[in-house]
Amino acid sequence: MPLIVQKYGGTSMAGPERIQAVAKRLLQTQQEGNAVVGIVSAMSGVTNSLIRLAKEITPDPQGRELDMLLATGEQTTIALTAMAIEALGGKAVSMTGAQAGILTDDFYTKAKIDQILPSPIQEHLHAGAIVIVAGFQGETRRGDITTLGRGGSDLTAIALASALHADECHILTDVDGVFTCDPRIVPKAKKIEVIAYEEMLEMASSGSKVMQSRSVEFAKKFNIPFEVRSSFHEARGTIVQSESRGMEQVVVRGISVEGNQAKVTITNVPDHPGCAARIFTAVADAQLVIDVIVQDVSDRGTTNISFTLNSEELNKMGDLLERIALEIGAGSVRKESGIAKLSVVGIGMRTHSGVAAKLFECLARGGINIQMISTSEIKIAVIIDEASIHQAAQLAHTAFGLDRE
Ligand code: ASP
Ligand code: MG
Repeated sequence: MPLIVQKYGGTSMAGPERIQAVAKRLLQTQQEGNAVVGIVSAMSGVTNSLIRLAKEITPDPQGRELDMLLATGEQTTIALTAMAIEALGGKAVSMTGAQAGILTDDFYTKAKIDQILPSPIQEHLHAGAIVIVAGFQGETRRGDITTLGRGGSDLTAIALASALHADECHILTDVDGVFTCDPRIVPKAKKIEVIAYEEMLEMASSGSKVMQSRSVEFAKKFNIPFEVRSSFHEARGTIVQSESRGMEQVVVRGISVEGNQAKVTITNVPDHPGCAARIFTAVADAQLVIDVIVQDVSDRGTTNISFTLNSEELNKMGDLLERIALEIGAGSVRKESGIAKLSVVGIGMRTHSGVAAKLFECLARGGINIQMISTSEIKIAVIIDEASIHQAAQLAHTAFGLDRE
């Protein structure tokens, strides 16, 4: 009998009617002749409100206790979903991450899965039950509850699909699939039928957050194809899989947009070995996540170094760089928010030339100035003024032939 793993996110769990609808869909999938494992998230907003609650007790809650707390969000929904299936006349068993055999390390709040021992799930499946597993959680070898990082139910689903050798893995969510661009920005964006893991990762790291990146990395590493589709209707979604012949024919699969970025420039950095290292070690030690880095051509023994980061990260930075600049004898530190990143992504770029030229040309036609450029094998990203980001996305979407007719 084919085995299907289906993951339902927080919005699909948002209240009793939604949970009943999910129960119906899981039951229907079983009645079509499949063994079914459902992974569920907490009701939307619940994980956030649990975090808020903890912070009202103490600004810095202990990881172990925080995970104990956060795991209750999913423990609620597994029980409710199983009850709803039983109420429909089906057979269901709810399981916590620990009961489902998900063993992790002890990095609380962002634990890694070490091993999955799926025989308890398999026993219930053999007995004809739909197994409902709590997403986002596992346990250490000592039996302490852990969580897998925000959005971690995706990882639970992919990892269980792998451990159970599932025939299909569906990520059911509140969008219809992965789109060529955010449809709120580009109304002519269309649903992508098939996308490669790598493209999905680049889209996610560039702002198109449909899924937790870690789960896509896991799927890529173990080659677990999956489908992102809507939990609200039956239409097919987007298949995410390893690249296959023919997929390279499409030069640009999608365009990803990320606003709320900031740019930092340190001027007149002495052009010696070690200066960039000093700057970025300090940035890393402060746990600031940065993105595009550009160093200008050195002029008379000094250079300018710029990098981008999220505006919130900029607020956390304080006067860290001013102090470093002073130490290494650099000039001033300039900070600018109100910028955005636009990325065009596609594995076809490896074999097609002229992608950068086409992107820059269409931005030029729109009078949009490029402040920084960064490339990878399958991505070209530009940093531009945030006010132009919608126009830029529209222009690039049309230029690369992605518009829906
Ligand atoms: N409930 C968790 C969160 O909000 C996990 C998930 O939804 O995937 O991050
Ligand atoms: Mg979620």
